[in-house]
Amino acid sequence: MDMDRAEPRFSRRRLLKGAALAAVPYALLPDARAGAATATATATATVDYPPAEWRAASSSNYTLSDRPDEYAVDRVIIHVTQETYADTLAIFGNPQKKVSAHYLVRSADGHVAQCVHEADIAWHAGNWTYNTRSIGIEHEGWVDQPAYFTDALYEQSAKLTAAICAKYRIPRDREHIIGHYQVPGTDHDDPGPGWDWVRYIRLVNFA
Ligand SMILES: [Zn+2]
Repeated sequence: MDMDRAEPRFSRRRLLKGAALAAVPYALLPDARAGAATATATATATVDYPPAEWRAASSSNYTLSDRPDEYAVDRVIIHVTQETYADTLAIFGNPQKKVSAHYLVRSADGHVAQCVHEADIAWHAGNWTYNTRSIGIEHEGWVDQPAYFTDALYEQSAKLTAAICAKYRIPRDREHIIGHYQVPGTDHDDPGPGWDWVRYIRLVNFA
């Protein structure tokens, strides 16, 4: 991103400045330069989980926060979409829908999309307390069609959950990695009886 546009793009001063700063870590750069670096980082590296693809939810569909400072993160909540991958992204992107999750895993290949930053509170649990303390992961499929829960989906989701557990020091067990159906007050039953919890928890522990 070109911050100081009054300057010719490849001026001698810019080239010298770039060369001089090339070896300096971003965190140590002067403010103006750090601002440019931050803007570039925001455009190209927004995800919290490097393998994920950033597919932003509408800002009307989650609550800004600075977790884990404002709220501790001590749960991962597992969901099944009851929609296709593409339709789920469209729903999260629609400001009328008032729903989101941090991550969405695609059935066919386990591809991971991140839709809400982990620092922010996604609206997935239907329970404010559980939303504030959890990371929500949606999986493409239907609770009564476990064929959607492919090897790739289990494996890539488990790697994601393992990374989240490591980051926030969340125990990798069924007390802390829960289904939406276990959230108090919910009327949802996902991920449903077709979800292989024994396999999933084993994968999370050995990912
Ligand atoms: Zn759910």
